[in-house]
Amino acid sequence: MSTVLFWFRNDLRLHDQPALQAACASGTRHLLPVVCLPDEHQVTPWGFARIGAHRRSWWASACQSLAQELSNLRCPLLICMAPARIALPALARAVEADHVVCEAIAAPEEEAEVESLRATGLNVRTLWQSSLLDPATLPWPVRQLPHVFTQFLKEVEHVGLRPSAPLPAPGALPPWPQGVPARYLLDPAGALAAFAGHAPAADARSAFPYGAPPLLGGEAAALSHLEQYLARGLPTQYKRTRNGLIGLDYSSKWSPWLATGALSPRRALAQLRGFEAEHGTSDGSYWLWFELLWRDYFRFLHLRHGGALYRVRGLGSEHDTPHDPAAFTAWRTGRTGQPLVDAAMRELAATGYLSNRLRQVAASYLIHDLACDWRAGAAWFEHHLLDYDVYSNQGNWLYIAGRGTDPRGGRRFDPERQASTYDPSGAYRRLWGTA
Ligand SMILES: Cc1cc2nc3c(=O)[nH]c(=O)nc-3n(C[C@H](O)[C@H](O)[C@H](O)COP(=O)(O)OP(=O)(O)OC[C@H]3O[C@@H](n4cnc5c(N)ncnc54)[C@H](O)[C@@H]3O)c2cc1C
Repeated sequence: MSTVLFWFRNDLRLHDQPALQAACASGTRHLLPVVCLPDEHQVTPWGFARIGAHRRSWWASACQSLAQELSNLRCPLLICMAPARIALPALARAVEADHVVCEAIAAPEEEAEVESLRATGLNVRTLWQSSLLDPATLPWPVRQLPHVFTQFLKEVEHVGLRPSAPLPAPGALPPWPQGVPARYLLDPAGALAAFAGHAPAADARSAFPYGAPPLLGGEAAALSHLEQYLARGLPTQYKRTRNGLIGLDYSSKWSPWLATGALSPRRALAQLRGFEAEHGTSDGSYWLWFELLWRDYFRFLHLRHGGALYRVRGLGSEHDTPHDPAAFTAWRTGRTGQPLVDAAMRELAATGYLSNRLRQVAASYLIHDLACDWRAGAAWFEHHLLDYDVYSNQGNWLYIAGRGTDPRGGRRFDPERQASTYDPSGAYRRLWGTA
């Protein structure tokens, strides 16, 4: 093999990168690492851009960091400003590459992307690497994944399943091939700045005020965030604080880095286990493992059910979904008149982040109180969330809509009760101007 294209997708890191290591181990003489920027002009059926300014900015920051790390290894990142199905076949022809290696993503569009590359004659090798647990080690074939999360958890814990240790970052990479055409040699910083566009101004009220150190995209920032989270002993209090609404420390805030792949879940868990070895286990440290298993569960659900998760009915039997465009607009602009929901939607739009508690409340309100299409809500979250993750977003929306695997058949959260439990003083609603 003379040249391999390594296509970075949602795995923008060098540590714990089995796919990259497999590409290097293939005996290739040359490696060309490449990232294809998402199509920023894509519009959803609901009339707004698929990828909003927060996500563009976070993604660009993660790519910028990766570009720096790769150039330290003398194997620079090539940035393609077109979708992979267009960019990669042309690039492969230009540098006479015969193989593409990348992570596997088990969602319909991402799989179609790989199929369209194969249809051009490219040899594409995909490797699964985004979950904590290796699906091949589960106590059942993934097509027999338990229908209920608690059953999944119980059985995983019963057999004592553990993830394998994270891999170190490579110390060296094969060199670039000769003759990469000049039109591909974009300055990464300039190309990424153009993609990011005008980053929204940082909002001091944000629970994740990204955009300046230490909250930058990329693996260096991810690993130092993880380090400080553990060094400050925060896992111990996680279970008590995780339903918080204001400030950085109520939950781990690992998700924005997990979503771009700048942080590997195995690395996060390995360091958490190191923390437990030193400081002892606690309800809080256990609960972080529990939540990471939710993340895995939604991934395995995709391996199990595939495109069925993208039907209106999901895994349920209800083929229709009501929709009220005016109510949807009120919801997404934070003007429903429901103070907790409006505050949440204002936070999401202003900052690109929202606590898990308020994601649940806001999603429930759209579906169960405003009688709107859950897919419109999922698309709005996809537009904004820095930590947008196809598996977790789809899985959680289906769960609340009662079209996933929830044994209780959908979740309605009473916003008044949620406000009195989680925002008893009204501080959160005042922060976002709704009380
Ligand atoms: C409607 C809805 C949509 C969501 N969309 C996304 C999404 O696009 N991307 C995303 O990463 N999470 C999503 N979540 C899950 C959850 O809200 C976030 O993972 C969490 O708020 C991220 O903040 P954190 O890292 O501080 O989480 P923590 O509370 O510190 O949890 C630690 C990690 O566990 C995982 N985790 C926690 N809760 C969940 C959960 N319910 N489902 C899956 N994984 C979980 C995440 O990887 C998280 O980083 C969604 C939840 C809801 C209700």
